[in-house]
Amino acid sequence: MIKDIATPTRTKEILQKYGFSFKKSLGQNFLIDTNILQNIVDNANLTNNSCVIEIGPGIGALTEQIAKQAKKVVAFEIDQRLLPILSDTLSSYPNVKIIHQDVLKANVKEIIDEEFKGYDDLMVVANLPYYVTTPILMKLLEERLPLRGIVVMLQKEVADRMAASPNSKEYGSLSIAVQYYTEAKTVMIVPKTVFVPQPNVDSAVIRLTKRQEPAVIVKDEEFFFEVVRASFAQRRKTILNNLNHNLTKYQLTKETILEALSEANIKPERRGESLSIEEFGKLSDVLYERRA
Ligand code: SAM
Repeated sequence: MIKDIATPTRTKEILQKYGFSFKKSLGQNFLIDTNILQNIVDNANLTNNSCVIEIGPGIGALTEQIAKQAKKVVAFEIDQRLLPILSDTLSSYPNVKIIHQDVLKANVKEIIDEEFKGYDDLMVVANLPYYVTTPILMKLLEERLPLRGIVVMLQKEVADRMAASPNSKEYGSLSIAVQYYTEAKTVMIVPKTVFVPQPNVDSAVIRLTKRQEPAVIVKDEEFFFEVVRASFAQRRKTILNNLNHNLTKYQLTKETILEALSEANIKPERRGESLSIEEFGKLSDVLYERRA
């Protein structure tokens, strides 16, 4: 019987057979531990009806474990050199389709419609290339793809920021952007030793469960995110000062901002990091009415 791809020996054999050299610039750190992969897949709660999008299959280590459980896997891989390897390593999984594209440039929505006709459960499962973790996740969330959720390996530091609660040093605009669309939970901390080559940073697996509705319903989403970003622009400044200095294009006077803060029941000397997502929602709505 053929061993799983994600064992140190089989991975080494595959890499040698194809003379593959890692490209650091593409975030190529491959997993060589089947238990970790199993854990990632278990956290996605797949059934044989599940459709899965993977980003960056590498030599197929995670793809293989997903394919064993899901109905179909569509994996985006940017590195052309991996295509012949994948068609070899995954040849016994007819439910896998590799798409040679940069996921950031791909029309994912169209691909979902084409590849997963009549699907009733759609998940993203991946060991992400770390140099583009945030743009990939924000693309998947902002495009409002019909996903149940996302389970991905990423830098621990980014996972901490995505899942952070108010009043912690990790809490910021990324926490709010992610938690606006999803419930975020770090489900595993992963040692460097389970990768080849080992990354420079610690890793974690995060589970993002899509909300039916955003965490707060606001009058204008774009404005809401601008208020959030402005509030965190200089973390040590008060919310009043940050809004006063960083929302200038809306010509809000200091007095107007004070009025809005009072209406939203937020003390002007508080800092952005102490505001809940609901408070940001209320604040952006009252400011929205007062903008020029
Ligand atoms: N899934 C494999 C594993 O767990 O062993 C490989 C994960 S490795 C961290 C990231 C993979 O993403 C690499 O195969 C890399 O070539 C690919 N990749 C990097 N940037 C990409 C992009 N923009 N679009 C699609 N794939 C990308």
